[in-house]
Amino acid sequence: MSILVTGGAGFIGSNLVDRLLETSQVTVLDNFSSGKRDHIAHVIGHPRFALVEADLFDAGTLENVMAGKDFVFHLAANPDVKLGAEDTKIHLQQNILATYSLLEAMRKTGVGKIAFTSTSTVYGEANLVPTPENYGPLKPISLYGASKLACEALISSYCHTFDMQSWIFRFANIVGQRGTHGVLVDFINKLKKNPKELEILGSGQQRKSYLEVGDCVAAMVYAVEHSSDQTNIFNIGSDDAVDVTEIADIVAESMGLAGVKYRYTGGFNGRGWRGDVKIMQLSIDALVGLGWIPGHNSRESIKTAVDALLKDVFESKPQNES
Ligand code: NAD
Repeated sequence: MSILVTGGAGFIGSNLVDRLLETSQVTVLDNFSSGKRDHIAHVIGHPRFALVEADLFDAGTLENVMAGKDFVFHLAANPDVKLGAEDTKIHLQQNILATYSLLEAMRKTGVGKIAFTSTSTVYGEANLVPTPENYGPLKPISLYGASKLACEALISSYCHTFDMQSWIFRFANIVGQRGTHGVLVDFINKLKKNPKELEILGSGQQRKSYLEVGDCVAAMVYAVEHSSDQTNIFNIGSDDAVDVTEIADIVAESMGLAGVKYRYTGGFNGRGWRGDVKIMQLSIDALVGLGWIPGHNSRESIKTAVDALLKDVFESKPQNES
């Protein structure tokens, strides 16, 4: 099988590439806007691996790369939820229009199977928690969530109009090795600068579900192998949730710090930022019903991820902390 992974130099993408390379030919297309060369350095030279440094808006290159592929995992996106409140165009361009560009390349080259990384934020502030895939109406509260919902709609409509097949994955918060953004990276970086005090965005009571990246990658592959509708939609997460203050406790303890003073920003009615969903836990019954079992709950996912991130920080070259 020959697979294209967009965004394969990113956090989740590079972990997915490791898994796919066990059995398949893998081509990564990435513009390195947030992806890192270090994330894929260990697979350069692998006989089944190829890297194309390009942007999804480069239609000519995209069509050349696409030709002959059996399957596309589409992860390339701007994943920063906070940004939408400052720049209203970024998710429209980098998520919706980039996905349109990808779908057009697939249509023109006759590549018919796509897996897409969507998000829990498409549900907005669901009044049913854990939230199942058939919850509605979907009312995202961030421009990021809106952009991912629009991508889901585009993908579904391409499938039905052009006889394609899709797997849409709505992720909880994914954490783990090679993470470059999100609450764990934020806390680790802040505590490295000042081990005595930690700024926590919001009230600290935002309660969400977390999943370790290895489990996430395994779930995606499992879902593709065990479902065959024209459009298959699965939540991917763990079966519990933790609040932000508990996360701060785990990070501080893992860094060997005691007595850290927490300073809560209060934020927007307890949210960390505009568009921050305060309570999120996904029902994972659909995928569990097919036989998938998450290897870690939220707390274990966070602990495993923090240990891996601290190892990344202290054992690798200095990293860009932005
Ligand atoms: P990431 O920023 O590490 O990865 C995104 C990758 O896409 C990067 O390597 C970046 O360079 C590349 N990219 C972006 N725009 C591109 C373009 N126009 N052309 C080519 N490459 C481009 O983010 P991540 O956390 O690994 O997220 C991967 C996917 O999962 C994203 O679609 C994100 O929205 C989704 N997701 C992530 C989480 C999470 O918790 N990390 C949760 C829900 C959904």
